[in-house]
This record gives sequence, C-alpha cells and structure tokens, in this order.
Amino acid sequence: MTLIPWLKEVFTIRRLTPRQAVRVLVLVLGLSLWSYSWLSASAGILQLYEFSLVRMGTQVRIVLYAHDHATASQAASDAYERIEHLEQIFSDYREDSELMRICRSASQSPRVVSPELFFILDKSLYFSRLSDGAFDVTVGPVVKLWREARRLRQLPEAEQLAKAKLLVGYQNLVLDPAQGTVFLKRDGMDLDLGAIAKGYAADQALAILRNYGIRRALVDAGGDLSLGDPPPGRPGWRIEIQSPELKSGLGPCELFLHNTAVATSGDAYQFLETRGQRFSHIIKPSEALGVRDSVIATVIAPDGTTADAMATTLSVLTPSQGLELANSLEGVSAFLVRRQGNDLHTFASSRFPPFTGGPLQHAGRKPLSYAH
Ligand code: ADP
Ligand code: MG
Repeated sequence: MTLIPWLKEVFTIRRLTPRQAVRVLVLVLGLSLWSYSWLSASAGILQLYEFSLVRMGTQVRIVLYAHDHATASQAASDAYERIEHLEQIFSDYREDSELMRICRSASQSPRVVSPELFFILDKSLYFSRLSDGAFDVTVGPVVKLWREARRLRQLPEAEQLAKAKLLVGYQNLVLDPAQGTVFLKRDGMDLDLGAIAKGYAADQALAILRNYGIRRALVDAGGDLSLGDPPPGRPGWRIEIQSPELKSGLGPCELFLHNTAVATSGDAYQFLETRGQRFSHIIKPSEALGVRDSVIATVIAPDGTTADAMATTLSVLTPSQGLELANSLEGVSAFLVRRQGNDLHTFASSRFPPFTGGPLQHAGRKPLSYAH
C-alpha cells in the first residue's frame, strides 16, 4: 500500500486496528527523529560522537563533535584509515613495513624512502641530536632485547646487550634530503619509531577530521593526544594528569587544553621487575638499560610528534636536564612525577600551565585521561 492512500485511510477511520496504530506510531517516531536531526543540523547543534579501535598496538580513541552521524562516522573511518596507512610504514612489529624493509637493506647502500618515512626519520634525528642521544631512533637492537626480557621476565644477557649497544648511535643514520635517501652506516642497525610515531599519527588523524570541517575533536593514540577546538561552551578539553602511584593530595590534577598536543610516557604499565630493580620499557641508550628512575613525564607541545618524542626523552633525562630542555623549546612545557623509593617528587617546567582542578578524589588507571 502506498503512503498517501494509507494515510487517508488511517485518518478517516476513528478506531485504529492495533496494526494501524503501530504503523502510525512508527511513522510519528520516524518523522520526529528526522525533523530533530534536520533541525539540529540546520540550527548548527553539534552532537558528541566517540570511536575506539586498536591501532598501532594501542587503543586509539577519537572524540568529536559533528552535526550528523554520517559525517562523524565517515570522518572517523578515514582518520583510522590514515593511521593504518602510517602503521604499515612505521611499524617495527610488521616485517613487511617500509621501516623494516629499509632496516634490512639500507646498510648496503642509500635507499630512497617514501616522503612520509623520510619526514619522521628526519624529525627523529632532530630529537636525537637535540637530546644528545637520550632519545635515539637507532635504539632498536636494545629495545628488542628488553622486549624479550619483559616477556621472559629475566634480564638480557650482558654480552648480548654489549653487542646491541654497538649498533646504537644516531650518528650512524644518514639522511639525504636532496635524494630522499636513508643510509645506515652499520650492518644490523635497527630503527625504532615507537617513541614518536603515535604522536604523529594522532596529528594526522586530527588533520583528516579537519578536512571534514570537524574542528572540535580529540585523538588519543594510547596516551598521545592531539587536541582541536574545545567542546562547545567549554574552555578546553579537560585533561586529567595522574599517576597510579600518586598519593592523595598530589593528584590527579586537571587542565583545560585545546589546539595543542599532550603526551605521557613512563613505566606505569610496561616494565620488568627483577632482583628488586624495576626497568622501564624506555631505554637509556648510553647504558643500553631500561630506565630505572621511575618517572612519568607529561609534555604539552604545539604538535603530537614533538609531545610524544619529548615525553620519552624526558623519561630518560634527569629532571633538571629535562626541564632545561623543555624550557628551551618554544611552546613546550613539561610536568614530571619521579618516584624514589617511597617518595614522590613532582617537577614542572616554567611554562607548564597551572592546574585548575586541584587534587581529585580518585586516581584512575591511566596516567592521562580526559573528559568532555
Ligand atoms: P609508549 O609507547 O608506551 O606510549 P613512548 O612514547 O615513551 O611510550 O615510547 C616507548 C617506545 O619507544 C619503546 O617501546 C621503544 O620502542 C622506543 N624507545 C625506548 N627507548 C627509547 C629511546 N631512548 N629513544 C627512542 N625511542 C625509544
Ligand atoms: Mg613518546
């Protein structure tokens, strides 16, 4: 039955059969939903959408405000696709990633790489030089030994570590911008983008959302956050900086941030504890050892790549070295929580914004979380 005669029929008879009554109800509901979404779209009412998928070995969350569901999900799906594309280039877990292929071949002769890989390696080299090797993109051979050590729950062999350490040194990575090539001076060198790629991916995903006109958005790649415009009517995205070990009174604390990036690094979840010592998954390249001074470093920076790389760097450096470095970079600020025995010490760089919320009641699981 077509709609018009059916409507006529419904409105000319007084008593509706149950079947007709259901039809009317469905029609009225449908009409109201349609008119609500049409009205909210035309009146510019933004609605909140959230997405979450595992990418780059971590939970990647996208939180955004959009006018309608179709735009929101299409934009999020494109953003995830972009991250998958980057994962295929940068991953050190996938043998067929461009990075791994380059590691296998670039010690024979300089190899041309994709502009994207060149860009991130160039950035990595910049942070390696800037931190005098506290951040070192060539730390791969040592990272792999410690990854295995965490799995087996036993320290790597000293001899293996010494061998791996010989292959670490950003000075042995040669980039030629004119040719777009990468050359590894030593056979067996291994590049690792684990400390920088997620921040870059978060930035790139945010840029995809912006292409859809979605500016009020947040991308969280497992603790590496890129923030766009704030939620409607809010001063910023509410970011809680907390540490599971923080005693009440110290944290967590909140900040309202927008159009910036914030990243946290530390040994809160990934570490090896053996013989009374705790070794982080973050490596001190000069010693080829997991960092032992337990530090949680939070860095705010103009972009996710910088925030990610700097948060790792500041987990390796001493607090005073780290704060000095953060203070020397425009738009960068840092907050450190360091545990020594049972004592917790906090340090903030000069530009780190004051906390607005003060201490909250309960410490969550993640070092960094947010609300909207
Ligand atoms: P997460 O990956 O836990 O968010 P990070 O951003 O700090 O934390 O990255 C840690 C990863 O970076 C390690 O798993 C390893 O792959 C790599 N890495 C470890 N130590 C260093 C270092 N000193 N310099 C550069 N990369 C490192
Ligand atoms: Mg990092």
